[in-house]
Parts: sequence; structure tokens; C-alpha cells
Amino acid sequence: MRLRQSPLSAAIWATTAIDAPETRRLEGSIAVDVAIVGAGVTGLSAALHLREAGVTVAVLEAGAVGEGGSGRNNGMAIPTLSKLDPNDLVARYGNAGERFAKLIGGCSEQFFGAVRAHGMSCDAVQTGWMAPAHRASRMEMLESRARQWTGIGVEAELLDRDQAAKLLGSEWYHGGLFFPKGGHVNPLGFTRELARVAIAKDAAVYTESPVTRMFKSEGKWVLRTPAGRVEADRVILATNAYTDKLWPGLKRSVVPLLNFQMATQPQPERVRKMVLPTGIAASDTQSDLHFFHWDGEGRMITGATLALPWIAAHARLRDKIGDRVAKVFPAIGKPWFTHIWSGWLAMVPDFSPHFHHLDDGVIAAVGYCGRGFALGFAVGAELAKASTGTPDSELALPFSPVKAAVPLHEISSPFASLAMLHYRRFDTRD
Ligand SMILES: Cc1cc2nc3c(=O)[nH]c(=O)nc-3n(C[C@H](O)[C@H](O)[C@H](O)COP(=O)(O)OP(=O)(O)OC[C@H]3O[C@@H](n4cnc5c(N)ncnc54)[C@H](O)[C@@H]3O)c2cc1C
Repeated sequence: MRLRQSPLSAAIWATTAIDAPETRRLEGSIAVDVAIVGAGVTGLSAALHLREAGVTVAVLEAGAVGEGGSGRNNGMAIPTLSKLDPNDLVARYGNAGERFAKLIGGCSEQFFGAVRAHGMSCDAVQTGWMAPAHRASRMEMLESRARQWTGIGVEAELLDRDQAAKLLGSEWYHGGLFFPKGGHVNPLGFTRELARVAIAKDAAVYTESPVTRMFKSEGKWVLRTPAGRVEADRVILATNAYTDKLWPGLKRSVVPLLNFQMATQPQPERVRKMVLPTGIAASDTQSDLHFFHWDGEGRMITGATLALPWIAAHARLRDKIGDRVAKVFPAIGKPWFTHIWSGWLAMVPDFSPHFHHLDDGVIAAVGYCGRGFALGFAVGAELAKASTGTPDSELALPFSPVKAAVPLHEISSPFASLAMLHYRRFDTRD
């Protein structure tokens, strides 16, 4: 059984995003200070920030700009992780955990700040992001989360049932935790714009250029692509769920999980005035996450992870997620979905993104667990600092050694989606 993600062209974003900047595949030999593998938000942000520091960079991407999670995600800019809060991060990583929590809490503002500073055209809407409570018992957890995030200076507001209902246009939830600096964008548009801005600052971005080997020769890192070769002092691996066997052991450190995204037909204005009327994005407190926002053309963007994605996925999604939308937002009813697409999330058992020093001058960021879009932008800036000599003690990234995510990775990771059956049981309990 081999699961495949959809082509990027299946995503609604492929029809609504601004065109990609012109790029070409790498042919011949070049030399730069830093080589970056992966043209998603993490790699491109690192490239942009390195160029702003006067460092020469080349980004090598196996497919197109945004080919991975960055171009096909839901588009939500979220200033939290899904399961860990500041206290968890401090308990796990000490001072580095506190710095990381602040980076996470500030990532949406940093992300929209870049949109504004560079005039990016990507349907950016910074009207906030909410985690609504799907059971009354989850309000206690949200209260604790609110205390922790506001405790480190992040703007967050606990909403009661009526306040949440007003922002959501839904009576289905028991309240929520609202982060006013969150929001949403056209993710492929953002990633392409990030590439455009980086290229304008003289970053070299090569597409259709998979790095097939890397090794050290005469003090330099050498990266080989089918038609080219890059020599660099330092390397950043920004490959997240799409990590292949390029660096021994890195692929085994994450479990790829297929996630589906869906877009409805554009909804009439009268519906959009009732549902998510201020334009917020929301993803609730369930592990079987319910998540929603409007895109720039008035489509609802939602989706799901299926426990058995290899069985009639699209038909089941139309039915299941159609019913879900009708249940949460009766004003819409059961919608027709014009687009269904998929992409890989990089899951790790401890639910915290992983940062590694792999060798002298080689660093990696993987394992965002479906929350690395705005965060990836902020992480890219930190990776850039790491590559220009900032010591770990001043970085907001908790570095750790690489370890295998699950035993017998090759055999067990294709069944990761079955874990949904386990998590759904907790969604129905107090
Ligand atoms: C369906 C879906 C929905 C999501 N929704 C959200 C959301 O709403 N909000 C949120 O915060 N996060 C979300 N995420 C997660 C988010 O998209 C990712 O965490 C983020 O995009 C990671 O960015 P990245 O740049 O690190 O990796 P990616 O964007 O995945 O880029 C990695 C790139 O590396 C390339 N690559 C890999 N190996 C090589 C090689 N050997 N040579 C050259 N190139 C290589 C790949 O082709 C790929 O383009 C979602 C993810 C998916 C899949």
C-alpha cells in the first residue's frame, strides 16, 4: 500500500495564488555561503534573512516553490502549537523553551509584518484565530492555555459561549481562546511571494533540483543535484514532512501523515455575514480537528485527516466534512466541495518541532506537526541567525539530537493515520 499526496495543481491555491516568480533548475557548479534544501516557508525565510545579513545563499527545491506543505496547507497563521504550551516547553527545554514559546507566540505578527513590509499579494487577513472548545470540559484547558500565553506577553482572550458564538457565527461551541494576531492567507501565494522577495534580494532559488547527495570535501559541503553542484560553508535542511534519505536518520525522525484540505464553492454574501462574520480562522480543541476560514473568494476552506485514507477518501470526505460543516454552521448547510487536495504533515511523538545540529555547519528543522506555516517563517529567521554564528544560547530554537520517531519506521509510519481512531476516543470524553 503506497499513499500519495495530490498534485499541487489540485489545490484551490493553484488557481487563486499569484504566479510563481521565474526560477530554473540548477545546471553546473556554483559556490555560496549557505545552501538551503527546500523552498517552503522555512527555507525561503532563512534565505531572505540571510540575504538581509549580506550572506550569499542558494535554495534547492526538488519540485516547485511551495511544492511541500507550504503551498498546499490550510493557510492559517497560528501563534501556538497544537498540544504544547509555554509551561510544557519550559519544562522540556528550560530557557531555550521559554525563548521558543515567545517565538511561537509572536510568529503570526512576524508573519503578517513580513506581508505588510514586502507588500505581498496573498489575500492576507489578520482578523484573529480562535481555538473553540468542542466540550464544556475543554474550557478549563483553554483557561490554563490563556494564562500561560498571556503570561509570556502574547495577546490572547478567553471567550465565553456567547462571545465565541458571535465571532464564529455558530452556537456549536462552548467558548474559545482567541488570538487577535492570528489570521489566514493564500499559502501558495504567500510562499511564492516570499520567494519573489528573496530573489529580489539576490537569493538564488533553483526548482526541479532535488539534492541527491551531500558530503564534505576540502572543508566545504558539496550538494549534488541531477544537473548541478553547490559548494557551501553551511547547509540548512528545511524539508519537514518531505524529508528524504539525503541525511542519514533524518527521515526516520518524523512520521508523515496525509492530511486533506477542501474548498467549497464561493458562498453568498448573506451566508458570509452570518458565518465567521469578521473573517477569523478557527481550529477547535479536538484531535480530529475541525477547522474553517473563508478564502479571498468567499469559499470555506476546511478539511480533515482520515483514519483510513486509502479507502474512497474523496467520497468519504465529501460526506463526512459536508455533514460537519452543516452541523457547525447550519447557515451554510451541507456544501458542495469543488476542490479536494492533500499534503503530508510531519508528526513527531512529542508534538514539538525538532531542531538539529547534524554536523559541523549543517542544521535542520523538522516535525512541525501541522503548525509550521507562520512558525516556519519565524524559524527560518532563527536558522539564518544560527548559520551566521549566533550561539544556541541566544537562539529561540531548542536544539536536540536526532532520534527515530517510531520503532520500525518503514513499516509503522504508513499506518500513522490509524492513531486518529485512538485520539477520537479522547475527543468524546470529558
Ligand atoms: C494539508 C496541510 C495543511 C496544513 N495546514 C496548516 C495551517 O493551516 N497552519 C499551519 O501553521 N501549518 C499548517 N500545515 C503545516 C505547514 O504547512 C508546514 O508545517 C510548513 O509549511 C512547513 O514548511 P517547511 O518550509 O518547513 O516545509 P515544506 O513547505 O514542506 O517544504 C519542504 C520542501 O523540501 C523539499 N525537499 C525535500 N527533500 C528535498 C531534497 N532532497 N532536495 C530538494 N528539495 C527537497 C520538498 O519538495 C518541499 O518543497 C499544514 C500542512 C499540510 C500538509
